[in-house]
Amino acid sequence: MEGQTAEELVAQATGAENGAGDSEPEFNLELSQDQKDIREWVHGFAEGVVRPAAHEWDEREETPWPVIQEAAKIGLYGFEGLAQFWMDPTGLTMPIVNEELFWGDAGIGMSIMGTTLAVAAIYSSGTPEQLGEWVPRCFGTVDEPQVAAFCSSEPDAGSDVSAIRTTARYDEAKDEWVLNGQKAWATNGGIAGVHVVIASVDRELGSRGHAAFVVPPGTKGLEQGAKVKKHGLRASHTADVHLDDCRVPGSCLLGGKEKLDERLARAREGTSSRGQAAMKTFEVSRPTVGSQAVGIARAAYEYALDYAKQREQFGRPIVENQAIAFALADMKMEIDASRLLVWRAAWMGRTGKDFNNAEGSMSKLKAGEVAVWATERAIQILGGNGYTREFPVERMHRDAKIYTIFEGTSEIQRLVISRAISGARIR
Ligand SMILES: Cc1cc2nc3c(=O)[nH]c(=O)nc-3n(C[C@H](O)[C@H](O)[C@H](O)COP(=O)(O)OP(=O)(O)OC[C@H]3O[C@@H](n4cnc5c(N)ncnc54)[C@H](O)[C@@H]3O)c2cc1C
Repeated sequence: MEGQTAEELVAQATGAENGAGDSEPEFNLELSQDQKDIREWVHGFAEGVVRPAAHEWDEREETPWPVIQEAAKIGLYGFEGLAQFWMDPTGLTMPIVNEELFWGDAGIGMSIMGTTLAVAAIYSSGTPEQLGEWVPRCFGTVDEPQVAAFCSSEPDAGSDVSAIRTTARYDEAKDEWVLNGQKAWATNGGIAGVHVVIASVDRELGSRGHAAFVVPPGTKGLEQGAKVKKHGLRASHTADVHLDDCRVPGSCLLGGKEKLDERLARAREGTSSRGQAAMKTFEVSRPTVGSQAVGIARAAYEYALDYAKQREQFGRPIVENQAIAFALADMKMEIDASRLLVWRAAWMGRTGKDFNNAEGSMSKLKAGEVAVWATERAIQILGGNGYTREFPVERMHRDAKIYTIFEGTSEIQRLVISRAISGARIR
């Protein structure tokens, strides 16, 4: 430094010296033109097609097939679209798409994105041939779109996945797997074409004895049980699924039998590394779920901000009261903080970073809790109107609540984070 002129220091700082201006910046929050274009495209669909339909399908509590078909027509629903979102090397396109779609409406958003739960399971456990065969079939065609379901939870196995009782028995003579059990809470359960079912092949091994199976459309022995009537996300179908001697070909075991046998042998010897692999799978998928919560929170915040500027009491817009304006300032700050955690974890997942501090869980936990809090604040800002079904923030609040429950409850996220940061056996 010593002896350098002011001009030399400025040249160094601005990168004008030694051609430093030509090199890639190492940190950048600027979205690429592709990301901006996709965001605008999904936003247009959310604003023009999803929002106007939101109230109707929430009241009907049915899957909005016409909206799914519209999404399929423009390429937003389908495996090519999904592949394009996944291919973004920064990992940000998936959360951007989800945030915009769920900004439109979360119930319809889930009826469009619920299929990706099954796709993610096929992607994480399947062979390349299985991906090629089953992922397109999860979506169906533009003329006849299908949805897919991921069935892991059971009446007695929610947070404790190791308690799964559904069994898979191999019938060697026929090269078939026989599935028996009851699944609970399955998004698209029973109305799906493809179901991905998690079953136990060796109960003594707990979650290390689990395997994932594709149940092809129309397979005998798979029946929808009770449809769940829900607090929110009501345009998305949720139901029990019964498996009664449900036979699927040997090729429907995701990953194949040889790999399963090797994995079971390692687990019996106590040398399995599946725990870390499963942890990584969840950490990679959680920011996508978090981005859905960010979308709901942002929708409620924007609605409340506009309302507060219009609504007058005591002769002035209510936004001119600090109590209202500060609440909106906090909402904006918390939503932006959530998005940054989501983007960080999405980027880490896509670039293969280790989630040493459970950053994926952090993003989902923060975004889910902010969505519940921000939508409640929005109701408060709208006063009596906020409490009615005539105004959308009431629906947004009901929709937001699921984000502290599914894909790992807030308590389970805290468990994962605290174990990761401490290395302690926290229970
Ligand atoms: C709308 C909806 C859609 C869903 N979609 C799917 C789907 O598509 N596929 C699927 O497989 N599942 C799905 N689920 C199930 C969802 O993942 C489970 O509801 C969730 O994992 C929680 O399980 P549980 O409901 O059994 O709650 P429980 O596990 O019984 O938890 C009850 C309470 O106890 C707390 N708790 C439990 N264990 C601990 C612990 N060790 N430490 C601290 N607190 C703890 C929880 O945090 C929670 O507050 C869906 C659920 C809903 C409501």
